[in-house]
Amino acid sequence: MNIKRPTALKAVLFDMDGVLFNSMPYHSMAWHEAMEAHGLHLSREEAFLHEGRTGAATINIVHQRQYGTDATPELIQTIYEAKCQAFARFPEPDAMPGARQLIEQIKAEGLQTVLVTGSGQRTLLDRLAHHYPGAFDAQHMVTAFDVKYGKPHPEPYLMGLKKAGVEASEAIVVENAPIGVQAAKAAGIYTIAVNTGPLDAKVLLDAGADVLFPSMQALCEAWRGEIGD
Ligand code: MG
Repeated sequence: MNIKRPTALKAVLFDMDGVLFNSMPYHSMAWHEAMEAHGLHLSREEAFLHEGRTGAATINIVHQRQYGTDATPELIQTIYEAKCQAFARFPEPDAMPGARQLIEQIKAEGLQTVLVTGSGQRTLLDRLAHHYPGAFDAQHMVTAFDVKYGKPHPEPYLMGLKKAGVEASEAIVVENAPIGVQAAKAAGIYTIAVNTGPLDAKVLLDAGADVLFPSMQALCEAWRGEIGD
């Protein structure tokens, strides 16, 4: 797999869950548990397909499928709180293997690194500085607190470009979720997918990924190969 780096590359925009942290197994289990507790059926694997959506959107998709109606705001709030409580019971997720080396490489090339996540999970956002020192300061971060529309809308990635002060043609996105890939492509950015979960690789390519790697380690090795290290 060859990465076609933009010639004027200035910034690399990173998703968080499933890219920087190996947190998706816990998120998917928490979703499954919270939905089942309220009579809604969402398998752990399907939870990976919805990664990146807002909580309300995920709950409504399942509610529509089962009952043909949107969930009430009260039910959405109840289930989403249950999901967050379930997630908090799991151990703190580890940094994704290979991610730190990749980010150090990118920083060493003088490129900006930017976080673009739909997450509002304070614990993980706070741990970024510990695992990825110097990579994501507040000026280089787009989170659930910043955006009106979530992925697959391009807004989060467009905001990431703006924070970095670069054009879409001067950036690369690293994403693991189909909906995240759609958001990045809708923003006009070259998108690398890393398949760090259980999804069929085809799902990420169908979402529009320009190139696909099976892990962050594989991406890190390919990135080093690109610049002849
Ligand atoms: Mg992700």
